[in-house]
Amino acid sequence: MSTAVMTKEVLNPFEIAQEQFDIAADHLKLDAGLRAILKQPKRQLIVSIPVRMDDGRIQVFEGYRVQYNLSRGPGKGGIRYHPNVTLDEVKALSAWMTWKCATVNIPYGGAKGGVRVDPKQLSLGELERLTRRYATEISPIIGPDRDIPAPDVYTNSQTMAWFMDTISMFHGHTELSVVTGKPLSLGGSKGRNEATARGCQFTTRAACEVKGISLPNASVVVQGFGNAGSIAAKLLHEDGARIVGISDSKGGIYNGAGMDPVAVMKYKDEAGTVVGFPGCDFISNKDLLELKCDVLVPAALENTITLDNVDRIKAKIVAEAANGPTTPGADKELFARGVLVIPDILCNAGGVTVSYFEWVQDLYGFFWTEIEVNQYLERTMNAAFKEVHGTAESYRTDMRTGAYILAVSRVAEATRVRGIFP
Ligand code: NAD
Repeated sequence: MSTAVMTKEVLNPFEIAQEQFDIAADHLKLDAGLRAILKQPKRQLIVSIPVRMDDGRIQVFEGYRVQYNLSRGPGKGGIRYHPNVTLDEVKALSAWMTWKCATVNIPYGGAKGGVRVDPKQLSLGELERLTRRYATEISPIIGPDRDIPAPDVYTNSQTMAWFMDTISMFHGHTELSVVTGKPLSLGGSKGRNEATARGCQFTTRAACEVKGISLPNASVVVQGFGNAGSIAAKLLHEDGARIVGISDSKGGIYNGAGMDPVAVMKYKDEAGTVVGFPGCDFISNKDLLELKCDVLVPAALENTITLDNVDRIKAKIVAEAANGPTTPGADKELFARGVLVIPDILCNAGGVTVSYFEWVQDLYGFFWTEIEVNQYLERTMNAAFKEVHGTAESYRTDMRTGAYILAVSRVAEATRVRGIFP
């Protein structure tokens, strides 16, 4: 790939999200008015979060909550704590949530939140105070029928418990359904922790069928070993796949004969990284992506497969557990080469689907067994894969465009039929 081409590629996630939307809008011949509405977020809130640190100093962090589209129901989307969070990233993630909820046809709009912070530098007490103040600052636009946050990168069920408790203190009663991804002891749903990865597993199985690959004999590489990546590795390993490469922010490990992801999880719990796991070779994050394998699971952050490295990606299937790992330019190249990309808005939609189940259970006060949750999830993911694949085939396009066509048409129809207020 020439340097000229490399430097031209847009890596701003919101511009990428808009480009992906435009491709679908063109296919759908969406009218100019609807196109203008759906191309921008409905509401963007920027808050400043003062936190008293353990040493008595006050540090101020910037936080965001963006509601992209609420035509099909309340906003839904995670909260990310990361030092590189920007408003444009949160806008992109809120757009992707909108299309994701529509792809799997659950009655939500899309939203996302983030705080520009390196959570690894904060004590537990500082993280709690940050979370409670962030929850307070965005509370005017949050609620079970308005916008329901969830965990994302570097936030977890504990973060959600603090968030839920803070909102409940204001309301004077326990408000379980205000966030999802909560602990099981506090209105969480069975199966939520594994849901994103399980959705990735179901869609990977379906993609293997389409490509004529036998999953029990397939080789798999997983980039990012957090909630989504580590559990996806475990579930695909249970399906018989050989996990040959794994990475986290500190580097990667490789073993052509395959690794036991559960043993790697245990190692990472103690060592803080997968690097150094016995019996494996060290591999850089860059080289890991270029390993020969049947399935590559990007499960870290955006812009992992770009014009810079796409011609060295050797996987036959890319299962996007992460949000936004492939740029539009790289997408085109992968499609041209016959690589099947299971797009993020389908592949990782298991998380939001079980979040929806959690919200339903909280509202009903009636909880399901794990088997029930997983059965509903499997049904939802398989139906969505079929619809996306069918749409892609009938428009003779890639799976991402297929998913966008399906999702944008659903959101556009809801927006159109509601009409413009006033
Ligand atoms: P997490 O914080 O649990 O894990 C992130 C992992 O990525 C960590 O292991 C970290 O070390 C690793 N990482 C960071 N930078 C890396 C790099 N440059 N190379 C390799 N590894 C790197 O986060 P998560 O919840 O697993 O989320 C991962 C991705 O999945 C994100 O894009 C997120 O938006 C998406 N996602 C998560 C969920 C969910 O339910 N957790 C749902 C949908 C989408």
